[in-house]
Amino acid sequence: MNTPLSEKLVPFGTTIFSEMTRLAQAHGAINLAQGFPDFDGPPEIIEAAIGALRQGENQYARSQGHPQLVRAVADRYRRHYGLRFDALTEVGIYSGCTEGLMSAMLGLLNPGDEVVLFEPYYDSYPVCVAMAGARARFCTLRAPDFAFDPVAFEALITPRTRLVVLNTPHNPTGRVFTADELRAFAEVCVRHDLLVLADEVYEHLTYAPHVHVPVATIPGLAERTLTLSSAGKTFSLTGWKVGWGVGPAPLVAAAQAAHQFVTFATATPLQAGLAAALTALDDGFYERLTAEYTARRDFLVAALQRVGFRVRPPEGTYFILCELGDVWAGDDRSFAHHLVTEIGVAAIPPSVFYGASDEGRRLIRFAFCKRDATLTAAAERLSRLRPAGEASA
Ligand code: PMP
Ligand code: GLN
Repeated sequence: MNTPLSEKLVPFGTTIFSEMTRLAQAHGAINLAQGFPDFDGPPEIIEAAIGALRQGENQYARSQGHPQLVRAVADRYRRHYGLRFDALTEVGIYSGCTEGLMSAMLGLLNPGDEVVLFEPYYDSYPVCVAMAGARARFCTLRAPDFAFDPVAFEALITPRTRLVVLNTPHNPTGRVFTADELRAFAEVCVRHDLLVLADEVYEHLTYAPHVHVPVATIPGLAERTLTLSSAGKTFSLTGWKVGWGVGPAPLVAAAQAAHQFVTFATATPLQAGLAAALTALDDGFYERLTAEYTARRDFLVAALQRVGFRVRPPEGTYFILCELGDVWAGDDRSFAHHLVTEIGVAAIPPSVFYGASDEGRRLIRFAFCKRDATLTAAAERLSRLRPAGEASA
């Protein structure tokens, strides 16, 4: 028998997140690679899910989303951003943003369509495009500032371009796109009548003075944007895999057309638990979240700078993407391998997040969604890379 794997998936191999977590475990390394907290989510959300399990919320949910959760999500967008969505027709619940991305692209794309992706990208995007039979074109966000370049973006658009995916706050660069950048982005999208998938899973992880500007709040974009987010990052519950999409009813319906056959519905008790908690959590929760993450960010930025990496503090997300500088002469892959095997810290080699350019070869990504003790231990190990004081940047 020839290889059983579909030729659509052959180019993508195993996701870097599984690969690096496996290596971290094999070498007893501190895992600053895959982005998941090593602390638990809010007890009130966990208790609400336990309550839902005990109260018989254990059969299939409504396919497009548990009625309580779609109402809670719609309410949240109104409260946080002044965006109004009809709970029953303009909100969909998915098994994580990852499933939302896949269902949206399967539901919106036709074979032969083109999709613009900004690189570096979250690794599932090009896979979703390929599974939908479409073709990805890559617009490179260039180091060191990773600014949005409307000219480079527009140059990639052809009559076949149907969709563009924009992630803000952006993994892995840590950029939070400004209202000016988004307005320039909107002009191009309107001129070419593009659909937009806005991946905003890090919407609550931004660091002053940067603020998250939801893509759908920019004039010209609301009517063409499906916004995706999830509970994973905001509530430190990455294993729950509960995500959602909000946007115009035809876009939500297209994603739903695929979602009903991909998973049919997302875990009922987790949806009910999240609904109860979304309604109960006050603004103080979100303020504490950013305060805690600001302290973690500042700690790891300083530790990396002491070693000699060229670091710009991220504006959002819980990742630091830094330049290898004088710390390592080789590429990101060889450095990540050295780091996990010899130093005992796992990080992500970002070249896997690029489809067109080789800009990732001299970068490395660290996650700081970790307890103070974990970050302190990681900083101590990283200091072995190079004696403090010899830093060149
Ligand atoms: N988009 C981005 C930019 C991400 O970093 C991630 C990683 N969690 C996801 C989507 C996937 O989110 P989820 O865990 O909800 O599937
Ligand atoms: N989004 C997370 C990251 O960038 C990981 C997601 C995953 O493991 N699939 O690290």
